[in-house]
Amino acid sequence: MPIAIQIAPGKNVHLSKIDPSASPDFDKEEGQARLVKLGRRLAELQELLFAAGDHSLLIVLQGRDTAGKDGTIKKILEAVNVQSTRVASFKVPTAEELAHDFLWRVHRQTPGLGEIVIFNRSHYEDVLVVRVHNLVPEKVWRPRYEAIRNFEELLVQSGTILVKFMLHISPDEQEERLLAREEDPLKSWKLSVGDWKERAHWDAYTEAYEEALSECSTESAPWHVIPANKKWARDLAVFEILIAALEPYEAEWRTNLEARGKEAKAELVSWRESQK
Ligand code: ADP
Repeated sequence: MPIAIQIAPGKNVHLSKIDPSASPDFDKEEGQARLVKLGRRLAELQELLFAAGDHSLLIVLQGRDTAGKDGTIKKILEAVNVQSTRVASFKVPTAEELAHDFLWRVHRQTPGLGEIVIFNRSHYEDVLVVRVHNLVPEKVWRPRYEAIRNFEELLVQSGTILVKFMLHISPDEQEERLLAREEDPLKSWKLSVGDWKERAHWDAYTEAYEEALSECSTESAPWHVIPANKKWARDLAVFEILIAALEPYEAEWRTNLEARGKEAKAELVSWRESQK
């Protein structure tokens, strides 16, 4: 049974109904073995995506602090060819970014044909943190849902395969992870008072996430909520969804590549003939 929840377009999301500790009905060891196989499959599909060059893959990763965005990115990068993969991280906007529309900094980071780009946070911050902290009034952030839907539709029409993940953890799990950072000398650098302060806004973030997911899960760019308390289950779910998103194009990519291969061979043969 897949544990991830794909949000149907127009459906109201209730995060409290999705168990962040959900995991498949096998153990972690089995999960890790499966992940290795899925990683190979993902790499194979990426090679086709790259060679065919008529699609790109954009992975949008959102989640609260400690939800596992960095860990998920690391796992994906371990599996794919990093020569055609890039990560774009979106932090507090600079003065220059703030002087433009909210999609300006995002659009320039989208993948070119053949590429994979992973968004570590994204344009969704502009309806999440911005809303929770009243950084702009509602009359500014509310129309952004429509702007986001249109922007994403444009990307899809231009050949982007767009997959959006919300890593879903529980408050208890977040507390444990924040406390664990204090204990681990190699993780303490990640400590930030801001993370504890953000935690105080848990319910406001829940509301902001629920509305963003409900408003912006579309047929062509659906949102997936990933139960993320268990890291191994999270990784498996993410890989399964990525593979399922790419597989429908596999036959088309192979046909395209075979045709190009034949053309290249025919050219080579005729060149050899001309040398005789
Ligand atoms: P990480 O993503 O690892 O948590 P940081 O600790 O640097 O990295 O956090 C980035 C911060 O930037 C987050 O608190 C996030 O909410 C904030 N941020 C990202 N985009 C925006 C935005 N458009 N407006 C305001 N804050 C933003």
